[in-house]
Amino acid sequence: MPSERPILIAGGGPVGLVTALALAQQGFEVRVFEAERRIDDSPRAATTHAATLEMLEGLGLVEEVTRRGLIEPRFRVWDRASHEIIAEFDFGILKSDTRFPYVVQCEQHKLAALALERLRALPNAAVTFAARVTGLAQDDLGVTAEVETSDGARRVLGAYLIGADGGRSTVRKALGIEFEGYTHPERFLVLSTPEALGAEFAECSRNYFSDPDEWAALFKVTGDDGRGLWRVVFPARPNESDEQAFAENMVQARLQRFFPKSGAYRVVHRNIYHVHQRVAASFRRGRVFLVGDAAHVNNPLGGLGLNFGIHDGVDLCGLLARVTRKDAAASILDEYDRFRRPLNVEYVQQQTIANKKRLEEKDPAIRAKNHAALRATAADPAAHRAYLLKASLLESVRNRNAGECAGATPR
Ligand SMILES: Cc1cc2nc3c(=O)[nH]c(=O)nc-3n(C[C@H](O)[C@H](O)[C@H](O)COP(=O)(O)OP(=O)(O)OC[C@H]3O[C@@H](n4cnc5c(N)ncnc54)[C@H](O)[C@@H]3O)c2cc1C
Repeated sequence: MPSERPILIAGGGPVGLVTALALAQQGFEVRVFEAERRIDDSPRAATTHAATLEMLEGLGLVEEVTRRGLIEPRFRVWDRASHEIIAEFDFGILKSDTRFPYVVQCEQHKLAALALERLRALPNAAVTFAARVTGLAQDDLGVTAEVETSDGARRVLGAYLIGADGGRSTVRKALGIEFEGYTHPERFLVLSTPEALGAEFAECSRNYFSDPDEWAALFKVTGDDGRGLWRVVFPARPNESDEQAFAENMVQARLQRFFPKSGAYRVVHRNIYHVHQRVAASFRRGRVFLVGDAAHVNNPLGGLGLNFGIHDGVDLCGLLARVTRKDAAASILDEYDRFRRPLNVEYVQQQTIANKKRLEEKDPAIRAKNHAALRATAADPAAHRAYLLKASLLESVRNRNAGECAGATPR
């Protein structure tokens, strides 16, 4: 084993479990503590980009993720009022850049369940559910996590601790690290229905609708029965309560306004989320690292948050493996915060903020300018490719591998 003490992971969400698998496959002893009794299956991430598919291939997961999901090479940006396609983007243009010139729409709980299955087959990994990390201490030799279970509290010793415990991260708070940024005033309402919302929209699994009054996003996922589910994301009105947003008449009115049809829609999930743009002031303190939503959160327009979180875990695993095998000095761990934080700001925060602004813009002149710019980008092969290299996070991974990053703090 590369280290005597195990690596501890707080949080068995998709990022914690995929990070655990990456580490366990490198031979590390890994212990994951998940506060809940089971994997959270609420409808959140589904879009898995090319850069992430490449990493999942390295972990032996890509075939199964693709089998459990659906392949979609395109996405469309529509003008909601006129039902006109403003621009269509096709990841197929990246066929010389990646083996995966498309996204795979696979719900995050399926990815988490798959990683868990693989971890359970490895003797050097253990995942404990209903085990909440409540505190930590560290010194030069290791880290101690306080873990609370139904049998009481205990202390667990590790070589390192990885906080993969989501946006409200206890680990981040225990380290006293600021979560810098802001919270959007409106929450996002997600409705899922097995019924397609209009034949023209059903041609593509990823659709974004620009509208000055109520933007929307529409995605297809396979669903638990594999028959397909459509998810619509709307901004909730500021101050709209859960009860108001979930009320059957409000839900039907929203969907019918979006795409009228005779009869009611069958709605199988109603969820509402607070949406933030926040980045931890530091992704590392000593032997403790933050990955995934514990380190950064963003709006879901572009499908980037989980993707970048997986990249965090794979990046960190590579650094820890080099240090533990003595291929590199421990100072190389500084690269984790030095690169990942600015890369998140440049590729995830900036793109998701711009995507939201473009969809919700109210000023007709700015809307027209934005739409013209999108059309021009889609029409020019070089600009189209450059846009998708960013949107797929391939460019961020390339820059990281080349040791280049605009905002990286100097050594
Ligand atoms: C509507 C919506 C759509 C989205 N779509 C996309 C998309 O298409 N693509 C994309 O890349 N991203 C998307 N995202 C973002 C994505 O869902 C998150 O980035 C992702 O869930 C982050 O995974 P995580 O494992 O870091 O955190 P989480 O999924 O929040 O998991 C954290 C885990 O830690 C556990 N935990 C918390 N505290 C403790 C503790 N103290 N001790 C132990 N365990 C603890 C929790 O129970 C949880 O299981 C979307 C988000 C939303 C809301």
